[in-house]
Amino acid sequence: MRQIPVCEPVLGREELKNVADCLKTNWISSKGKYIQEFEKGFAKFCNAKYAIATTSGTTALHLALASLGISKGDEVILPTFTMAATVFSVLYTQAKPVLADIELDTFNINPAEIEKKITKRTKAILIVHLYGHPCEMGPIMDIAKNNKLFLIEDAAESHGAEHMGRKVGTFGDISAFSFYANKIITTGEGGMVVTNNKTLAKRAKILKDMAFDPEKRFLHLETGFNYRMTNIQAAIGLAQLKKINDYINRRRHNAFLYNQLLENIAGIVLPTERLRSKNVYWMYAILLNKKFGFSRDELRKHLMQRGIETRDFFIPMHRQPFFKKLGISSIRESFPIADDISSRGLYLPSGTGLKVNDIQYIAKQIKALHKLVKNENYAY
Ligand SMILES: *Cc1c(COP(=O)(O)O)cnc(C)c1O
Repeated sequence: MRQIPVCEPVLGREELKNVADCLKTNWISSKGKYIQEFEKGFAKFCNAKYAIATTSGTTALHLALASLGISKGDEVILPTFTMAATVFSVLYTQAKPVLADIELDTFNINPAEIEKKITKRTKAILIVHLYGHPCEMGPIMDIAKNNKLFLIEDAAESHGAEHMGRKVGTFGDISAFSFYANKIITTGEGGMVVTNNKTLAKRAKILKDMAFDPEKRFLHLETGFNYRMTNIQAAIGLAQLKKINDYINRRRHNAFLYNQLLENIAGIVLPTERLRSKNVYWMYAILLNKKFGFSRDELRKHLMQRGIETRDFFIPMHRQPFFKKLGISSIRESFPIADDISSRGLYLPSGTGLKVNDIQYIAKQIKALHKLVKNENYAY
């Protein structure tokens, strides 16, 4: 039986050719033409002025926060429903992550919840455009502006997503992208900081490279990092970037096909695309409710037996024992929406390379399982 993976990269001849070029010419570390071309190309793709390549989405986030000078004593508000790297990046700066609940339809941070969490120590809002859907940027930008807070975007899952015709990664002061193997485009491991602010871009560039003084080699301005992407990674990234619009279109088409095939099954909530938003469907994320018959975990098990790999939603950050121990969330706080969706959400196979007949097969299995459990209930 064929296994349909939840998400796989699509790599081609262009990537191979570029990598071979790096090896043949010995440009294998972090200098070389592909780095510059990839950075320039990615900035252009986002309609941003500056892009700075890093070793991962996590290091891109840390670099973004460090470039803003976020440090001990500061508080950073972020959604509890995200990947742990968002929280880790704040912890690296010694600042305190402050969690906020999310919206039910997009799974993104709820602007009203951000406002409730602002204190005198709040320095920044770190939003996450989750699963490919942009956050509701109007109110979030207003909150940042009215409270004089930095706005940082974790766009690791949403390359090319748009809100009000503008690409994610360009709404805030600075943003971070990931090029991990399952993201919209990949460099194996890798990340990118994006900004329109010249001072921030300069600081990020210096910090990522040991904080070398640009004027004098082997003089260091502060505690620097080595977050340098290699030319080999950038060579892959550049080839991927040439295809990114095609990849996004394919993901959107796959999502529309899923929508069509699953829309009449009771108990399945399909992913949304809000007005004035463009979802790039990094993951095709669905919710199950009681009407479906099977629980999320039961459905996942049955799909696995039919060769279909799926994933649970993230475990919210306030549910992580380690973060609780650090005092990141207190028992007095509640996050009802995050708790609710994380217990009944899953994503179906969502890779760019997914075929039409894969999606038809998956939808057919889900339909059959739904029918089966309904009929069994009927017999009681
Ligand atoms: C993938 C991801 C990251 C981290 O990116 P890496 O490249 O794996 O370090 C950060 N935030 C979110 C929301 C992600 O999905």
